[in-house]
Amino acid sequence: TDRRRISIFGATGSIGQNTLDLVAREPDRFEVVALTGGRNVAQLAADARRFGASLAVTAFEDALPDLRAALDGSGIEAAAGEAALVEAARRPADLVMSAIVGAAGLAPGLAALETGASLALANKESMVCAGPLVMATAEAHGGRVIPVDSEHSAVFQALLGEDIACVERVIITASGGAFRDWPLEKLAEATPAEAATHPNWDMGQRITIDSASMFNKALELIETKEFFGFAPSQIEAVVHPESMIHALVGFCDGGLMAHVGPPDMRHAIGFALNYPARRPVPVERIDLAKLATLTFRPADETRWPALRVAREVMETGGLSGAVFNAAKERALDAFIDGRIGFLDMPRIVERVLDRVSAKGGLNIDVITLDKVLEADHLARRLADEEIG
Ligand code: NDP
Ligand code: MG
Repeated sequence: TDRRRISIFGATGSIGQNTLDLVAREPDRFEVVALTGGRNVAQLAADARRFGASLAVTAFEDALPDLRAALDGSGIEAAAGEAALVEAARRPADLVMSAIVGAAGLAPGLAALETGASLALANKESMVCAGPLVMATAEAHGGRVIPVDSEHSAVFQALLGEDIACVERVIITASGGAFRDWPLEKLAEATPAEAATHPNWDMGQRITIDSASMFNKALELIETKEFFGFAPSQIEAVVHPESMIHALVGFCDGGLMAHVGPPDMRHAIGFALNYPARRPVPVERIDLAKLATLTFRPADETRWPALRVAREVMETGGLSGAVFNAAKERALDAFIDGRIGFLDMPRIVERVLDRVSAKGGLNIDVITLDKVLEADHLARRLADEEIG
């Protein structure tokens, strides 16, 4: 009936592949317009052929010859580079899945919203770097931003039909990542391979390491503020190792609405693809009696300093989210390359925020893409200095 034209940014990644899995199950409902990827051009080309996309874009210009070769004879257009990603986002579509990893997802997401398309947003970095700009762009062009991050999808679902003025607080849960039970003194020696394993979720490498450091939860606290407009004091994180409850919304009458779902991103992706309808999604059904126990513990800011820094970012606003995210991305690169230790990441991010703040560089009246990119570049440069 209502066939939706969909473009998927970051189609070769974990979220992108899960999105295509759902699209493949309902070929009559979705028409694939553009697919984008990065280094994995073989996957990108195969999916572009399989789904009959009209355009395939790799983020990296040096990968274009390989993409062209892989698409030879298909009639599918190939392109490469940042500008090509933005061009692809301007192709008419009803819904665009934003599943690039990192701040690189921001410009294509904004370009998609400018066409009036709705944005299924997995790329939390967009919200952290430029939340007010993302929301204002959607508003101005009549599109919607629908969260894909599981906690934010949970909050969104718990708020359906509710009076936002009656919300007292929002609690997002954290699994605690790979090191939740490690003794504190061992953390300094943690290796990238150890950090890249996750107890419950199967995700991309970067977000998995961010789960171990709680930078992922830090980004999500900021994302919650930007998405729903709550005050920082209303937003909390709690450690919930079973990852069954994704978020809770507390109302002024003392009631808490919890969202329970299996640790499978296809639930939240399916919700975003079908919104405002609900349609069947093939995730495992939860058997509560077999779960035995759901446990919770405080999110300790000594173990996970990223959470404390996120609170400062929420209070400061302005460009602090862009600086926080960019410094985090560089620190994560350095950790993955073995150039710094696990506990150096939060130290470096905090140092960079302090240095930009000392120059008065965090405050701004109106957030624009140019200002965000400028802050992002500065923060990356300062982070590289701190990394040494
Ligand atoms: P992956 O690393 O699995 O995939 C990232 C995607 O982005 C790939 O398609 C990759 O291409 C592409 N990419 C990499 N670098 C660039 C770049 N510089 N410019 C453009 N594209 C690039 O990540 P995930 O799927 O795990 O995460 C995607 C986003 O969703 C992130 O923002 C993450 O925080 C968020 N998210 C993910 C969840 C998950 O379960 N995975 C849960 C909630 C949120 P290639 O692989 O071809 O190089
Ligand atoms: Mg999440």
